[in-house]
Parts: sequence; structure tokens; C-alpha cells
Amino acid sequence: MSLNINEIRKDFPILSTSIYNKPLVYFDNGATTQKPRCVVEAIENAYYQVNANVHRGVHTLSQRATDLMEESRETIKDFINAPHSREVIFTKGTTESMNLVAHSFCQQYCNEGDEIIVTAMEHHANIVPWQLQEQIRGVKLRVAPINDKGELLIDELEKLITPKTKLISVAHVSNVLGTINPIEKIIEIAHSHDIPVLIDAAQSVQHLPIDVQKLDCDFLVFSMHKVYGPTGIGILYGKEKYLNEMPPYQGGGEMIGHVSFAKTTFNELPFKFEAGTPNYIDIIGSGEALKYIKKIGLDSIKSYEDELLRYCTDELLKIDNLHIYGTVENKCSVISFLVKGIHHYDMGMMLDKMGIAVRTGHHCAQPLMDRFEIEGTVRASFAFYNTIEEVDIFISGVKRIVSMF
Ligand code: PMP
Repeated sequence: MSLNINEIRKDFPILSTSIYNKPLVYFDNGATTQKPRCVVEAIENAYYQVNANVHRGVHTLSQRATDLMEESRETIKDFINAPHSREVIFTKGTTESMNLVAHSFCQQYCNEGDEIIVTAMEHHANIVPWQLQEQIRGVKLRVAPINDKGELLIDELEKLITPKTKLISVAHVSNVLGTINPIEKIIEIAHSHDIPVLIDAAQSVQHLPIDVQKLDCDFLVFSMHKVYGPTGIGILYGKEKYLNEMPPYQGGGEMIGHVSFAKTTFNELPFKFEAGTPNYIDIIGSGEALKYIKKIGLDSIKSYEDELLRYCTDELLKIDNLHIYGTVENKCSVISFLVKGIHHYDMGMMLDKMGIAVRTGHHCAQPLMDRFEIEGTVRASFAFYNTIEEVDIFISGVKRIVSMF
């Protein structure tokens, strides 16, 4: 089904605004996406109509808020096809989900010298939590290399597996290169060695249909703000068998069973991992965001975004001295590039003056920058509300900047 982009854009009022008197061209969707009206209205409605602290409330308003929050959990469960909603944990972002797993998984399953495998293209959120575990309990991080195209060397990853490997944690899609990693294959290899796999879906869940049962991944994490939802909500999907064994990450609030000074017991899933008052208002908004995406359809979204990606890549490659980082066939709609002699920061600043929002810098992937021996890139990342006309504005902007240097 082809998308009616003009109609879709009306759902996102910010897309009709201006920057420096130029129509906004928002190509920073990898950092965060814009929000459709239905999400903002759901949040407004939740504050105005049903606001009361969730769980344990005897009064009607609290029960209504709880019901809406739990409905959202069901929507998210369905979106990734998780077997049970108790396997869907609310956190405040991908980063917190990752830290939760690193802390609780390592506490339960890792001893000094045990190993976690990641790849050279990970976001810091999939590096630093494991490094903290290196300091706390002597866990070792092993890094699977990539080639110059930005493709994971899966044979090399397999060679890193030892009897000490406890978990493989990989990005589904690189936030810098756009590379779609062969996670089905990685999971198959890992499981043949009885090793669980964590998928960082922060850059994939908004572009590709994900079915955690079909994938058979053991953990999957993502952030709602990158999926057209509110800020401050992360998702952790985990298989019950692990989540039940793993100790709580934080204490207090709904995560308790019974508290006494002699002995405290913990609640069941998912509440065991949801200490304190949850951000139930934005959780309610999150469910709306996924319903909105589902209505448009991820297959239509992917094929339209691929069109934008192909067109923009072809046009960029016509520019002299421009180099794209991440050139595998199987990519999501992210383009990182540099033009010889132009600092990425200057390119970003000048595009901004033209109303074009791109991201510049290391994109929280400094080891990947080291791999390519660069400090940073300019990154354009597309969403389904972007247009070919916007790509044209962007391309002529880049050309103008190149001609000025
Ligand atoms: N992993 C990847 C691949 C990402 O792109 C990001 C966000 N840039 C994160 C993790 C961290 O997400 P958040 O900041 O929402 O926690």
C-alpha cells in the first residue's frame, strides 16, 4: 500500500513549522522522532481525565489509570508479538533497559572472567553498562569486528564464543551506518551454544516488523521516543525464564511482595522490575504511538523509507569528495557521510541555517568512529513523513555548502 504522505504530515504539526524562516526539514529521526497528534492528545487526555497514581488504588480514577497503563502494555506486547505482557517491562529508555539487564543478568549468571560479546558498531548504551560490570565483577567484553562497508563479520563473531561466553548483545540496526545486522543468524549461532541474545532494537523497531517469538531472542530493548511516542519510556522484553531468575534492579514501590526489616520479598513480573511510580501517563501515550504505526503498517513504512534512502544515497554520491559510511545493501534509512575538507560540525551548522536538521558528531558510537579513523560524521535519518522534495532541499543544501568551501 502506498502512503498518503501529505495526509500523514498533517498528523505532525511540527513538520509545518519554520527554522530561520525556512520550512523545517527534519532529518534527525534517528535521534528522536516527531509525535503525531493522537499521542499528544492521549497524554493530554490522560492528565485531564484519568490522572491518579496507578496500582493499589481503591478509587475509580486510580483503577482507570491502571487499566489504561496495562492496556498499553498489551499493545506493546502485541506489537512485538511477545508471548506474555508480564515479559514487557517499562523503563525510561533503551539505556535504562540495557543497564537493567547488564546489572541483573550479570549478578545472576556471571562470575569473574565470564564474557559478553558485542560488536564494533554498538551505541555506548550497549558498551558502557557491560564495562561497569567489568569493574564490578570482572566480566570481560569481547568485540566482533566489522568490514569497511560496515558489515558485521559474523564468522569472527562466532570465533569469539568460548565456554565463558554468557551473553551476546547486538544492535539490530546501527544508528550510524544503518546496517541491518543478521540477527536471525546470530541468534541461531548463539543458541546452538546455549547462549542468550539481547537485541538493541532502538533503531529497528520503527522501521522493521519485529516478532520476538519468531526471532526467539532472549531480550529486546527499545525507546518509545524513537517510535513516534513520548520521551521517558523504554521497553525491555525478556523471556520469563531469565526475568524470573534475575534479581531486581532497583528497590521500592510496586516491586515488593512484603517488606519487613527481617526479610523482604519481591513482586511477580513485570512489577519486580518497575520500582517507584511508573511514568504511567507517557506509557498511555506509548500505546497510542504503536497503534498509529500499526495502522500505517511497517511494511509500507519500510518500502517508502527505502525509496527515500535510495534516492538520497544516489544524489549524495554525485557530489565530489563525499564519502558515505555504511554501504551494505541491507540498510535502514540512515546515511552518515563526510565531505573531504569540511568538518561535520560546520556542515551541520550551515544546514541548520537552511532549516535542515541533521545530527553531527560521534553519535554515541566512539569506538565505531575509531574503527573508521574519524571523529564524527553528518547523519541524515529519515522517517515515513519525510518526502523526496525534502531530500532535494537537503541535497541542494549540501551542494551549496560544498561550493562555498
Ligand atoms: N541504542 C541505539 C542503537 C541507539 O540509537 C540509541 C539512541 N541513539 C540508544 C541505544 C539509546 O537510546 P536512549 O537514549 O533512548 O536510551
